[in-house]
Amino acid sequence: MNEIIKTSYSALDTFRQCPLKYKFSVIDKIKVPKTKEAVFGNKLHEALQFFHKKSPLSPTLDELLNYIKETWDASVFADEQEDMIYFSEAIKILKNYYEHYLKIKDKFTVLDTETRFEVLLENPENIEQKCLLTGIIDRIDKTKDGIELIDYKTAKRFPAQDEIDNSLQLSLYCIGVMNRWPEFSKSGPESIKLTLYFLKHNETITTKRTLEQLENIKKQTWDMLKQIEKSDFPPIPSALCDWCGYKRICPMWKHLYKEQMTIDDEQIKKVVDEFFQLKLSNSQNNKKIIELKGIIESYLNKEKIERVFGESGYITRLNQIRYEYDMDKVKAILEPFGKWYDVLGVDTDKLKTIVKTLPPHVKREIEKAKKIDKEYKLIKVTAIKKKPEKE
Ligand code: SF4
Repeated sequence: MNEIIKTSYSALDTFRQCPLKYKFSVIDKIKVPKTKEAVFGNKLHEALQFFHKKSPLSPTLDELLNYIKETWDASVFADEQEDMIYFSEAIKILKNYYEHYLKIKDKFTVLDTETRFEVLLENPENIEQKCLLTGIIDRIDKTKDGIELIDYKTAKRFPAQDEIDNSLQLSLYCIGVMNRWPEFSKSGPESIKLTLYFLKHNETITTKRTLEQLENIKKQTWDMLKQIEKSDFPPIPSALCDWCGYKRICPMWKHLYKEQMTIDDEQIKKVVDEFFQLKLSNSQNNKKIIELKGIIESYLNKEKIERVFGESGYITRLNQIRYEYDMDKVKAILEPFGKWYDVLGVDTDKLKTIVKTLPPHVKREIEKAKKIDKEYKLIKVTAIKKKPEKE
């Protein structure tokens, strides 16, 4: 039976960032208000779409700034001061963008903005199975050398070239552009510039792909779809939690948002703080540490959460998985590269060093040769000077 899996780059990226966030958003379809960072990014994207829509008769700077003033949504910000900070940042970004645009405007023509694309990817291991991948590209330009795809970013972090050269997003967008405009990609993906435009820095970073890389990306996409199918969607807390709208229902943060405190809740804060004091003072009182750990674990189980907050910091229960390599598979992968004899008789660390020297698609094959050796829970304590703020 033919089967078509529907997904998008943003869904795959959400899974990579945090499987639980993917579950909340893509499977359970839980709607949450957008975070202020997301609204800020959307408003800038809309303003730039307005700016380039009528290319080459682009609006003036005043018209562009008026547009963002009229469409600005102050309701997502905590107070007037926060609203002003974000609004001033948006104005600064648009002014810088406009100034830069005046310098380069003769070098390109905008072909389209907010371009939707669809790509049908066949599963290389089962041709009956297909995936319909959709996405939206912020801007596509025609330049004298070919076409250039632009994706605006409002994040502060400027990635390294290597990261961009391996970006799944840009690879999938490249496939999307080739699908949508086959006439422009006749000379291969190398004629398509893939650019991320970091609006806060007013800087761009560009990369390209080869056909071979795009073939590998298709395989990588199927690997991810398989991972999603097998996943039990664990939360993966990171700095990106501050941009996640599911914090209030997430087992990593729910405790922080609890409004009605029971005696148990008050008690657990004291237990957490006592646990901290013992840990920070390197106490040898193991009996007490085990006792407190037991109380904390019972509370986590009862509340169905994985993180509990006290005054001194928070305690997180993390699922740890120890892997070992299936050496028969590793041998079959490494032998054609003449690397197998470098691994023989050495430990996993040596294998990891050798893997770093291999092409990305071989690295992925080695990854797949890993199997679970042991799975266990770990309690991690994190001291904080100040409790993370509730939104
Ligand atoms: S708050 Fe963090 S850990 Fe929780 S779902 Fe969102 S991204 Fe994942």
